[in-house]
Amino acid sequence: MSDALLPHQCDVLVIGAGPAGSACAQHLAAGGREVLLVDQHLFPRDKVCGDGLIPDAHAALRRLGVYDEVAAHAQPVQHVRCIGPSGRHIDVPGSLSVLPRRTLDHILVRAAERAGARLLAPLRFEAPLLDGERVVGARFKTGGTGASHEITARRVVLATGAVPQALTAAGLCERHTPSGIALRGYVRHEGLRERIQQLQIIWHPRLRGGYGWIFPGPNGVFNIGAGLTGSHVQSAKGKGRMQDVNLRDFFDAFCEVYAPAAELMTSGVPQGEIKGAPLRCSLRGARWSRPGLLATGEAIGSTYAFSGEGIGKAMETGLLAAAALQAEARGATDDGAMRQGYEAALKALQPRFDLYESASHVNYHPWLADLIVWRGQRSPRILRRLSGVLEETQSPGRLFSWRGMTKLIFE
Ligand SMILES: Cc1cc2nc3c(=O)[nH]c(=O)nc-3n(C[C@H](O)[C@H](O)[C@H](O)COP(=O)(O)OP(=O)(O)OC[C@H]3O[C@@H](n4cnc5c(N)ncnc54)[C@H](O)[C@@H]3O)c2cc1C
Repeated sequence: MSDALLPHQCDVLVIGAGPAGSACAQHLAAGGREVLLVDQHLFPRDKVCGDGLIPDAHAALRRLGVYDEVAAHAQPVQHVRCIGPSGRHIDVPGSLSVLPRRTLDHILVRAAERAGARLLAPLRFEAPLLDGERVVGARFKTGGTGASHEITARRVVLATGAVPQALTAAGLCERHTPSGIALRGYVRHEGLRERIQQLQIIWHPRLRGGYGWIFPGPNGVFNIGAGLTGSHVQSAKGKGRMQDVNLRDFFDAFCEVYAPAAELMTSGVPQGEIKGAPLRCSLRGARWSRPGLLATGEAIGSTYAFSGEGIGKAMETGLLAAAALQAEARGATDDGAMRQGYEAALKALQPRFDLYESASHVNYHPWLADLIVWRGQRSPRILRRLSGVLEETQSPGRLFSWRGMTKLIFE
């Protein structure tokens, strides 16, 4: 689009058209709001991810009315296979699927457009427009000429994901380093199609602090990756810094310890490069709002620490932001009360994020994965419990705490 045709104002400006931003924009536009949805990339675009959709993502896709469209493209999967260092495994049943983000995010953007939101891309968010402390719009760099373009808005939503630049520019970033880092590649392998039909997650001492995965996508293309869920460490002086780890070596170690990963990488056909990206987890590391602006999705850490899953919770938090803005528009609240309502809704999610954070010790003590596998193989009740946690029909409770683990051994 020519820069001259770009709009200069709107009611709600949503910055970032990933799952969080698109869900928020769709809900607001369907509610009659004038919404501009802005992204630095043209769609369809790639996003480094494992592409695994777990039950909370399916629930959010149903709320957005796009579940059938997603299911028509996605590879359905029935189990998460948890594989311990010994090589033993359990299959935890769940409503799961795999769909590359290039397709998923395009479906979500189009749904927002169908609801009436207007997509503007490529436009890169540079800084908020301020009236005192209050955010009243944003300044962008346009993709065409690189010129500066300003859009004023009654309310702004920031949904720019785990990369911290936009968060910092918006004055919300409390921790620059991410919570985790991971990389993934796509590999086509016809021969493994029959053998790998689960979301496979592998823990091993050589992958301490994280895990490796192989997820079967559509058309015989696998998403293979490895990541650290605790890449951010606290120094003695309390300052955060990145762990000193070479992610490519970590990925190579995964291929050395897990034979199907080696087989996939040596005899499969790579589809593009292996790429890495940061994760922000546990609803930590950023302020959730400031006057005139709500931040949502992975920008505020809406990804689970232990598992690195975040697509579902990104949409869920995007919908919470939209609901808060709709309550305000109905005259039920003012900006301050609207922000309080949004933050209270996020706080209600915090305990679940905290449980996933404490479950991260499985990543640091991979032998615990063998213990869970060993118990799960013997106890249908424990397997049902794990499935309930995955489906979010049951709280993890103390299952993943040290106490819970000890109970597992002696129960
Ligand atoms: C390697 C890896 C594997 C993962 N695997 C899984 C998985 O299997 N399942 C799962 O559920 N989750 C997974 N996650 C987490 C998942 O990717 C995130 O939780 C999810 O993408 C968050 O959605 P979001 O909408 O908040 O942010 P994003 O999806 O990151 O979207 C943010 C959008 O904002 C745009 N943007 C950023 N900065 C600007 C700017 N300055 N101006 C304009 N636009 C901007 C970006 O272009 C992007 O479109 C994985 C993450 C990684 C890194």
